[in-house]
Amino acid sequence: MISDRCICLGDDCIAPKEAIRATRYIARLVDESHFGVSIEQCVRCGQHFLTLFCEQVDWADSDDPQVWVAVPVSADEVEKLRTADVAADENAILKIIANDRRFLLHDMPKGAPDRLAWMTRRPFIPGHD
Ligand SMILES: [Zn+2]
Repeated sequence: MISDRCICLGDDCIAPKEAIRATRYIARLVDESHFGVSIEQCVRCGQHFLTLFCEQVDWADSDDPQVWVAVPVSADEVEKLRTADVAADENAILKIIANDRRFLLHDMPKGAPDRLAWMTRRPFIPGHD
């Protein structure tokens, strides 16, 4: 079966995760040790992604729960994200990407198996320190 959809938006989860990890950085909006927000662009098809990295410190076992999210965004949304002061107010992100959409979520909880899945819903910012 031939699909015109790029690998970065593919139906399985592993290949898109690899493709999104190999994207080109456009801008880093937040660069904290437990919270990172970047805009990236697929080198194959030019699709923009907003990626979030959220970590909570596990002082007891050093098994820090982490969540990685990659949300496909339009060029218009990229412009809004770049001009919004996301570092000062992370909720500015959710005002820009406010509608339901398909995004990739990699949940790495403490003491439980990783879960990598496409979700279709309103994007959210996972908890972080
Ligand atoms: Zn792509």
